[in-house]
Amino acid sequence: MKTKATTAAIVLAAGKGSRMHMDIQKQYATILGKPVIAYTLDAFEASQVDDIILVVGEGEIPFARKQIVDHFGYTKVSQIVTGGKERYESVYKGLCAAKDSTYALIHDGARAFITPELIAQCIRDVIAYDACVMAVPVKDTIKIVDEEQYSVSTPDRKVMWQMQTPQCFRLPEIREAYRRMLESGDNTMTDDAMVMEKYGSRRVKMTMGSYENIKLTTPGDFILGEAILKNMNKAQKP
Ligand code: C5P
Repeated sequence: MKTKATTAAIVLAAGKGSRMHMDIQKQYATILGKPVIAYTLDAFEASQVDDIILVVGEGEIPFARKQIVDHFGYTKVSQIVTGGKERYESVYKGLCAAKDSTYALIHDGARAFITPELIAQCIRDVIAYDACVMAVPVKDTIKIVDEEQYSVSTPDRKVMWQMQTPQCFRLPEIREAYRRMLESGDNTMTDDAMVMEKYGSRRVKMTMGSYENIKLTTPGDFILGEAILKNMNKAQKP
């Protein structure tokens, strides 16, 4: 008998957000009266994922459980685990906690404008291609520069995509790729697709994302975020 494929979302919220210059971490800061991480969890709760692993900073589990998961009543958050110093350490801890799910969707908690529809597209693509990342074609011209910030070359914009999350894989494959990366001591990987490309064996397919699926990184992003949210709410109302 074939068992049903299951999907776990690894939602990362263990970053310190030092570029934000705030007293509170950006994932707990509010935007239009609600914490950033709650917008993210709303989308996953309403999506087809089977469970959510929330990865938080050292000592933050009680706060996240009470003020976020219980307060907003998320039923799919099956575990809250402590992350690591670097994003890749947090990812690996989340992947290990997900145990025996078929697929893992790794998502930056600070990308609060993800929607159940975009998540559905990720799930369709990971089933079809085994490895996919949400991304958008770049709109600006990108330059390669030297150490003195002189332009060296201009790669063809048509072949360049900007990475977002979710980044989606067969769980055992990405967990093994991460294990190999950690074993090798390599700390140069900046996204999950890179880990799969270098330490796994799947080709990674692009899943068309949204230009609104931004990561809240600097204070200016919060202003932009308010506008995105207001626009999303308007789009939902007749
Ligand atoms: O720092 P950056 O914006 O690239 O982080 C992307 C996401 O990864 C954020 O949601 C952040 O909370 C998370 N992260 C983490 N553990 C770390 C660093 C970042 O979970 N050590």
